[in-house]
Amino acid sequence: MSATAETPPGTPVLRLENVRKTFGKHAEPVLRDVSLDVPAHTVTALIGASGSGKSTLLRCANLLEEIDDGAVFLDGREITDPRVDPDEVRRGIGIVFQSYNLFPHMTVLDNITLAPRRVHRAQRAAAEERARELLARLGLADKAGEYPDRLSGGQQQRVAIVRALAVRPRLLLLDEITAALDPELVGEVLAVVRGLKDEGMTMVIATHEMGFARDVADQVCFLDGGRVLERGTAAEVFGAPREERTRRFLRRIVESGRLAPG
Ligand code: ADP
Ligand code: MG
Repeated sequence: MSATAETPPGTPVLRLENVRKTFGKHAEPVLRDVSLDVPAHTVTALIGASGSGKSTLLRCANLLEEIDDGAVFLDGREITDPRVDPDEVRRGIGIVFQSYNLFPHMTVLDNITLAPRRVHRAQRAAAEERARELLARLGLADKAGEYPDRLSGGQQQRVAIVRALAVRPRLLLLDEITAALDPELVGEVLAVVRGLKDEGMTMVIATHEMGFARDVADQVCFLDGGRVLERGTAAEVFGAPREERTRRFLRRIVESGRLAPG
């Protein structure tokens, strides 16, 4: 699904409108009245404590979770409309998780081409050509025939990113993709994300890497108890947070050494 001639210019790629999500009938909502616009070719960072709703927000955007109230739009089209086929929507959105979820019994190349071959019924040769081109771009040209357990965590995560890109998504959702990596492997994965930003990919990134969020994000959203408590440019949210809770969250992170002050 791509932007069509009818999509007015300036329409955000992703829009959440007053989204509410509750797990179970009597539980407290996990997302409360969440509204968010993600313009084309921009990066939005979701920050906030563990349990604040970052993963759930990404999963609702991708229709992996059904929302209780509100609406989600992709390129101006309401995808939470019950008449919309969620599988078709998911084809336009790439998602990468903390755990790489590669199939261990398949080569790197087969892991990447599985979705384009199945979902798009593309010719195998075309899917493989695209996969090899992406692998080369991400510095993995010689890994096409390897099995995942022969790769480092950073290489596996880069393969997972290639797999998400293989279907030419409109939007890429990245959920704590460096959280499971050894510290020395984080940089190579973040460099890939930076490269994708430079190419104009629209992304929403849940991350604990505050320094990275500050550098790469056009928009930063601080989630607190399922609410977007504060939203602004990286300079605004990191440099001059308005809310006391945001300040407290950032102070704890600076104290833990995960963000240089300033
Ligand atoms: P974050 O990614 O910011 O750590 P999550 O979106 O994973 O936060 O979780 C937000 C809240 O929703 C947490 O309290 C979590 O326990 C709850 N939650 C997430 N997924 C489920 C689920 N499938 N069933 C019940 N509760 C869930
Ligand atoms: Mg999470």
